[in-house]
Amino acid sequence: MKGFEYLEEEIREWKELGTYRPLTELESDQDSKVTIQGQRVIQLSSNNYLGLTTHPRLKKAALEAVEKYGAGTGSVRTIAGTFSMHEEFERKLADFKHTEAALVFQSGFTANVGVLSSILTDQDVVISDALNHASIIDGIRLTKAGRRIYKHVDMDDLEKALKETEGARTRLVVTDGVFSMDGDVAPLPDIVELCEKYDALVMVDDAHASGVMGKNGRGTVDHFNLHGRVHIQVGTLSKAIGVLGGYVAGPSVLRDYLIHRARPFLFSTSHPPAVTAACKAAIDVLLEEPELVERLWENTRMFKKGLHDLGFQTGKSETPITPVMVGDDALAMKFSDELLEEGVYAQGIVYPTVAKGEARVRTIVTAGHSKEDLERALEAFARAGRKLGII
Ligand code: PMP
Repeated sequence: MKGFEYLEEEIREWKELGTYRPLTELESDQDSKVTIQGQRVIQLSSNNYLGLTTHPRLKKAALEAVEKYGAGTGSVRTIAGTFSMHEEFERKLADFKHTEAALVFQSGFTANVGVLSSILTDQDVVISDALNHASIIDGIRLTKAGRRIYKHVDMDDLEKALKETEGARTRLVVTDGVFSMDGDVAPLPDIVELCEKYDALVMVDDAHASGVMGKNGRGTVDHFNLHGRVHIQVGTLSKAIGVLGGYVAGPSVLRDYLIHRARPFLFSTSHPPAVTAACKAAIDVLLEEPELVERLWENTRMFKKGLHDLGFQTGKSETPITPVMVGDDALAMKFSDELLEEGVYAQGIVYPTVAKGEARVRTIVTAGHSKEDLERALEAFARAGRKLGII
């Protein structure tokens, strides 16, 4: 179209490079297997860690909420969009996280943007891990605070940043709890100790840790037994929790402040009743069915060992996120295509989502995978990996 020639030009380049991707359509529900292009394939690309997207208790809660309260809320939270169930869910979430309060945002992305863009001013400094999620980066872009990026999980560099920024009103150190592309875990106890030494605040994004790490999936703060020592916990309700949304868990004063100043919260309509009711049911499932988290970790151990035994490079992952390193962008996409032919959906991840030269196929096992699913997937990886010379 006239006026968009410059976009067409860029897209042509992506096509030449082999990194252009049409969206993958799922023609079934989101389970351990999905239907893509009419073919039933093993799903290794979803964040549905515990299989909760299709859990009967979540579906029932959502249906009942629609019947009782309708499909939408018609307003932002601060005007006419706060239903009792929103507040009940937030209290339940705060109890679950062992914090004073919690506040739900439309997504994990907007939760990060909402916090970072609202609580810091030009008197403050935000100190962020180099591999933090895009929503943290964008939140930081929106603050007037000074910014310092420390080398990924490098505690010497973090200490240097804390020393260099002494004198700022507030220093906020931000880290992913589990890093989304590599599956490694932040050294949270060391971060907390440094922040206590230098009088800085700590914020952790547990998007990939909620429902995955800690007792009943309470997250990294629980995993490392750091309750009361991490000031802000952010996370998503869209991955292991199986529904949609983001949350901030922390002190009541933070919740109050965000309600009045976090722009994505103030200016965007609240979650439909079905979403909130299903999220509430998800917390009940986490509390009452701990075997789901146990199964997730059993599957994780089995799949990781299988990939290692085949000779794949899987980086520093310690969690259900296992990257299978390939290097070249086009090769990663080819590998993903071959796997699909073999009956496995594992998405290639390329620049700019990861650095150039670090393209990979990212796998995520879930509690819903059977041993047979994982054995079949490993056979597919072996065949495709050998065919492309990756192993
Ligand atoms: N933080 C991290 C670390 C994530 O991986 C994601 C999801 N990609 C988000 C935040 C955003 O969560 P949501 O999908 O709920 O917006």
